[in-house]
Amino acid sequence: MAPHRTVALIVAAGRGERAGGDLPKQFRTVAGTPMLAHSLAAFGAHPAIDDVLVVIGEGQEALLKQAVGDVRFAVGGPTRRQSVANGLAHFHAGPPARILVHDAARPFVPATVIDRLIAALDSHAGAIPVLPVADTLVRGNDAAGETVSRDELWRVQTPQAFAFDLLVEAHRRWPQDRDATDDAQMLRACGHDVALIEGDAMLDKITHAADFVAADARAAMSLVSRSATGFDVHRLEAGEELWLGGVRIPHDRGLSGHSDADVALHAITDAVLGTIGAGDIGQHFPPSDPQWKGARSAQFLEHAVALLRAAGGVLDFVDLTLICEAPKIGPHRDAMRARIAELLRLPPAQVSVKATTTERLGFAGRGEGIAAQAIATARVPICV
Ligand code: MG
Repeated sequence: MAPHRTVALIVAAGRGERAGGDLPKQFRTVAGTPMLAHSLAAFGAHPAIDDVLVVIGEGQEALLKQAVGDVRFAVGGPTRRQSVANGLAHFHAGPPARILVHDAARPFVPATVIDRLIAALDSHAGAIPVLPVADTLVRGNDAAGETVSRDELWRVQTPQAFAFDLLVEAHRRWPQDRDATDDAQMLRACGHDVALIEGDAMLDKITHAADFVAADARAAMSLVSRSATGFDVHRLEAGEELWLGGVRIPHDRGLSGHSDADVALHAITDAVLGTIGAGDIGQHFPPSDPQWKGARSAQFLEHAVALLRAAGGVLDFVDLTLICEAPKIGPHRDAMRARIAELLRLPPAQVSVKATTTERLGFAGRGEGIAAQAIATARVPICV
């Protein structure tokens, strides 16, 4: 058991009839990506979240795989409460310290809200994001309708954060024949204190068809195009495997470095990180850290892409240039392009692989090493 672990549970078990269309709304596209993929990426990339579990409806396995690939999931029940309970049961073998319960219908999860929730758990059993009510509220629909004071009224959002054992206990004690609007209600029923932290308008729920249109329009308006470059060099040495662009290439020497030294993927990783100003590959995967010894560079690139997606960005194009005298890149170009496109989750048409020599000048010309430069173009939210 890892007592300090924090996990996220995304409830994506709804049928979503109100949004129209045949597909349950959590699998429908919003802002260019299946709705569920947005929150999954946000939790997956947050440094304080150790594990993410999705709860889907019965028979939705194929829809899940199609929307987000292979992810850990549990199958929910007929009500939201039972779906959460099924998700909690998944963690019983190795209970975490904290759990964030989230509804997939709120796709845009700011990292700042996750930070505030986790911080609040230091002094509270639970914490929920809330926003003040802006509209005037009345009770009844005639002219004499009573105006309701907005003081102490809040719009409650998710994710909601809890001490894991207390949430499990609250679920166990809740009457089986009664539904609950959210998990905070169940925790309070056990006498625990739930902190209200500042929510975010980005977390608003997508319910109706018009909400999809509004979210698409808002996402498109707030994205700006950015290009960023990456550059890397590794030394060629005897006795090493040669990996370039995620492809093993037969050659008399290979690139040396702490990881598999795939200079092409390193340059692209830096370019992708650059589009969101997220530092460089050495910051995320320090060469001094033994866990990255011999690591596949594919995972570095996948991490960078996950960070970009979590920031609400959309990758548009990557162009790579390899600089070496040998091996010849031409015969491997298509394989590299296909592998890089797969790692970037882009069609191959949005990936370009080029090569050049330096006319036998310099270290690349003398065959001492291989250099790579890359440029990535992405659309990212204006505030990133
Ligand atoms: Mg490198």
